[in-house]
Order: sequence, then structure tokens, then C-alpha cells
Amino acid sequence: MNNRSAKISALPHVFIFPLPLQGPVNCMLKLAQLLSQQDIRVTFLNTQHIHQRLLNCTDHTNHFKRYANLRFETLPDGLPEENPRTGDQIVNLLASVEIVAAPIFRQMVTAGDYGPESEAPVTCIIADGIFTFAHGVAAEIGVPLLYFDTISPCGLWSYICLPKLIEAGELPFRDDNLDEMIINTPGMEGILRRRDLPSFCRAKDLDDPVLKVILKEDEHIPLAQGLIFNTFQELEGPILSQMSNICPNIYAIGPLTVIENARFEVETTMSSTSIWKEDMSCISWLDVQPARSVVYVSIGSLVIVTKEDFLELWHGLVNSGSRFLWVQRQGSVIGGLKGLETPVELAQWTKERGYIVSWAPQQQVLAHPAVGAFFTHSGWNSTLESIVAGKPMICWPYGVDQQVNSRYVEQVWKLGLDMKDMCDRVVIERMIKEVMGSRKDEFLERAGRLAKLAKASVEEGGSSFRDLDRLVDDIKSMRI
Ligand code: UDP
Repeated sequence: MNNRSAKISALPHVFIFPLPLQGPVNCMLKLAQLLSQQDIRVTFLNTQHIHQRLLNCTDHTNHFKRYANLRFETLPDGLPEENPRTGDQIVNLLASVEIVAAPIFRQMVTAGDYGPESEAPVTCIIADGIFTFAHGVAAEIGVPLLYFDTISPCGLWSYICLPKLIEAGELPFRDDNLDEMIINTPGMEGILRRRDLPSFCRAKDLDDPVLKVILKEDEHIPLAQGLIFNTFQELEGPILSQMSNICPNIYAIGPLTVIENARFEVETTMSSTSIWKEDMSCISWLDVQPARSVVYVSIGSLVIVTKEDFLELWHGLVNSGSRFLWVQRQGSVIGGLKGLETPVELAQWTKERGYIVSWAPQQQVLAHPAVGAFFTHSGWNSTLESIVAGKPMICWPYGVDQQVNSRYVEQVWKLGLDMKDMCDRVVIERMIKEVMGSRKDEFLERAGRLAKLAKASVEEGGSSFRDLDRLVDDIKSMRI
């Protein structure tokens, strides 16, 4: 063994495999960056599709300069390049990853077959919680597996309770009353109604393909040596304590978007992890808007909406009288916007008081003083980013954990309003007026308080700071 190889194999070596979607890649790449700054060698396993998109949007040389211990490996996700990878395609994507990518991942890890630096043996695997196949691979080479579920712990906890709900006859729903309270979700008593469960719970029978995937995930989660979450104790302490009943080793290390700045005293944020090109012109537009006058509107990277809902949203925004910055992601309206008749009054208002981009630098936007509220689909990254920025929310959840997140935003954290199941211009107008106007002070006060707690949690001595230290120490103690 030469000197260089000896040095490489002396470092712990973590293999990180994220679900190949924007949200999970954001979180996992930030974790990879953090670990690689702590004398841990990290191999980040990207699908070719995601990797190419990252390369198109990011100055990658930055990654290599700044994170010398971080390297990338790629594999196919098995889908034709032209296939959409939107929210409605998740089951296809997962099936394809399991058939095509999982065997390559196994080969890489078990045969040490991962490129020129293969001499560094893997000492720990961190995989998305939905990758149930990762458990067998970790067991085969005898290294610990940590699951990083990048959705919200409150959302994941509702998933974990599904077998209980089925056993108790709460699932499938016996009738159409979506306002009936849910009972068998310990720690969430009095919070969730049927409509607040993940949307796949509305399936008529237990053969629903998404439900089946989640039930399989439920069986595997407790098999991991630890669970990593992008959250902080002060936000989700009661849920994390429920979670520790199924896996006692919990690392709550969020919000990941602010942890590096707190820890390494760097002024800039971490290298962008976006897979769309950010349109920075919206920041100049925000610079000339009055303080707290703008509603920022985004439905994340996966949600797709009907033309009817798109129009309702547009009417509601205009009728609210607020200025708005609206992310209209390419492909997010079913059938596209071609042929959509634009009402003259909407076009006029949008020209005068609105700004549209296809992808925004979201964290910068949320931190901008001109932004007064976030109209969001309640994805977990977006929710946490809004909490960090101290911005109240109007929530329009679409699927998976978003239904639970939006309920928590309104009912538990009291940071805004949950509009779920009601995409109607009158409701949108009313809710924006409440959050931006009549109840503004109440929401701002709560949001400001929680933002402070979020930032304190990642500072020295804070709960997330300590959990990240513990994670680093534990990884360093894992040797094969
Ligand atoms: N995002 C962004 N610009 C946009 C819209 C979204 O950078 O114009 C980022 C956002 O900051 C977040 C991620 O995309 O980190 C979306 O993740 P989230 O979990 O909120 O939702 P998902 O896309 O997974 O549904």
C-alpha cells in the first residue's frame, strides 16, 4: 500500500445514496459537505440524470476545491432521459431505481468497485429511508446503515403509524368524512384529521402502490443503526421522542441550510445544490419592492397542477391585492400553458405588481425583507427554509408528508394557514389577506420566535450542533 492509499484508508468512508429528487439531494449533499469538512471521506452516489443537472447549474469546481474529501459516483436511474420525474411518477422512479440502480450500488459497495479511489473501504452507508434495499447491502459488507429520511419527522411518524391505523380499522377510511379525527397516531392526539394524513391514505384499498411502498419502508426503518433528520429538537421534540421508541439512535441535525454557516463561520452559503438554473433577476425586482409587501409563491420541484387550479391561484393572488413573486416551474401545469386564455385584468396586474421566474434562489428570496409571506406546497425543505427566514406561510399541500406539514404549520406551530383541499380563488384571497394583513402581527411574532430557535439550535451548544457532533464521532468510531 502506498502512502496515499494508506492515508485514504485511514479515514472513515461514508457512502451516501440519496433519493434522486431535488429535495433529498439538497439535504444529503449538504450533509455530505458537512461530513467531508470533518476528516470523513464521502462518496456521494448520484443518478446520472441528477448529476448532469447539478453540473449544468452549479460551478462544480467549487465542490472539489472546498470539499476535498467529497467525491461523486454516478449510476443510471433506469428511466429514459425524456421521462418526467415529477410527483406523479415517484412509484415508477422508485421501481426503476430498485431494478437498475440498486444492483450497481450493491456491486460498488460489496466488491469495492467504485472508481479510482476504491482503496478506501466503506465504513458506513447513509441512504434515503425509502431505499429498503440498502439494509441488505450494509449487512452484506457488515457496516452500519443510517437512514436519512429527508421528509419531516412528523410526516414520517404518520407513515410509521399506518400499520396501527390499519389494524385499528381507521384505514382505509370507512366513509367520506375527511374531518374525522385520527386516533392511532401516538403523540399527535387531537391534531390530525383524516384529510391531514398523507394523501395516499385516501386510497380505497390497501393495494395502492404508494401505500405498499410506504408500508415496506415502515418495516425497514427500525432496522437501521440510526436515523438522521433535517429538523431540530425545539420544533419536533415530541415527535422525535416517539420516533426514538422504534430507533433509539436519532440525530436531529437541521436546519441543514444554516448549519454550515454557524459551524464554520463562512459568510457565503454552501455551494448551490440546485438542479434548475436560478433566475437571480428576481432579487433585483425584490430590491425595489416595499418591505413585507410580496407573497412568494412556489410549489417546489415535483408538484404538478391542473390548468383550473393554476387559474384559481392566479385570480386569488391578484384579488388579494398583494404583490407577488411566482415560480412557474417548467412542466408544472398539466398540459402546459399553451392555449390558456389569459384574462386581461390578471395580465395587467401581473405586469405591474408581479414577477414570474421559472426557478428562484429560494433561500435568498425568503430572506429578503420585501417578502412578507410564502405561499407554499409545504415540502419539508421549503417549510424549514421559511421557518429559518421567519416568514409566515399559506399552505397548499399536494402529497406525501406535505399534508401533515401544513397541518403542523397551522395547528401546532401557528405559523400560518392551511388551505388544503380548497384551491379556490376566494379562499386564496382571504388567506393571503389574513396572513399579509389582519393577522400579520400574530404570525410574524411566532415566525420570528421560531426562526431564533432554529438558528440557536445549530450554534455551538445548540441541540442540532450537538447531534451533528455526535453523528461525526459515531461515524469516526465505525471501523470494519
Ligand atoms: N427551490 C428553489 N427554487 C425554487 C423552488 C424551490 O431553490 O424556485 C428549492 C427549495 O429551496 C427547496 C427545494 O427546492 O430546497 C424543494 O424541496 P421541498 O422539500 O420543499 O419540496 P419538493 O420539491 O421535494 O416537493
